[in-house]
Amino acid sequence: MTSSLKSSRRILIKLSGEALGGETQFGIEPAILSEMARSIIEIRNQGVQVALVIGGGNIFRGAALQKAGMDRTVGDHMGMLATVINGLAMRDELIRQGTHCVLMSAQGIASITEQYAAQKGREILEQGSVLIVAGGTGSPFFTTDTAAVLRAVELHCDEVLKGTKVDGVYSADPFKDPDAVLYKTLTYKEVLTKELQVMDLTAFALARDHEMKIRVFSMTREGALLNAATGGDEGTLIS
Ligand code: UDP
Repeated sequence: MTSSLKSSRRILIKLSGEALGGETQFGIEPAILSEMARSIIEIRNQGVQVALVIGGGNIFRGAALQKAGMDRTVGDHMGMLATVINGLAMRDELIRQGTHCVLMSAQGIASITEQYAAQKGREILEQGSVLIVAGGTGSPFFTTDTAAVLRAVELHCDEVLKGTKVDGVYSADPFKDPDAVLYKTLTYKEVLTKELQVMDLTAFALARDHEMKIRVFSMTREGALLNAATGGDEGTLIS
């Protein structure tokens, strides 16, 4: 098997940690975990190769810990470990629902995850297993959005799917402005010139420089994730 072999559509889904926490946005809500795993298996069963990056904001964020007085680097290490905790929970749920799944982490925690390695990751995806990539980029001062784009580029994914509370990118905040318009497509340049909020700038610049498509869609609307993952015209596509 060569490192670049890709026999079918390959996507990377970025889920925020907060989404796992449900209404409180803290910790892990078992019913949400179970429903997310069910959706991922549904996508996998359509023949799509699925990589998953989960944030850690439902447990710790370095910036918040810094505000409370902690050293930022230590806080970010805690945030990255939080993404490993979420990854462990998701791996367990996927396996319990009958799907083979591998958890890799940027930090070597040999007894509980595999060490992240791009080529190994691509082989795992090609074999049809779900691949969870935890531990962020492995470095402080970055976000899991940046990790998601970085891993998508390394793993030769076709698209990054970013689940949000709204069903795409709007001209203004749809919760505050009734005239806000949903964009179906945008170029990287349009996102920057219109100053639209898609991802943090580091993540976005990486996507633009490597022409990694980003699709923003609703995490809460039923069927949206499956439609986005199987190439449907869902949410907003940035390319
Ligand atoms: N983090 C980091 N480097 C990375 C990715 C994440 O230091 O490459 C830390 C950072 O403290 C961040 C936390 O992990 O706040 C959790 O990630 P994020 O806030 O992106 O999670 P999400 O908002 O997606 O739940």
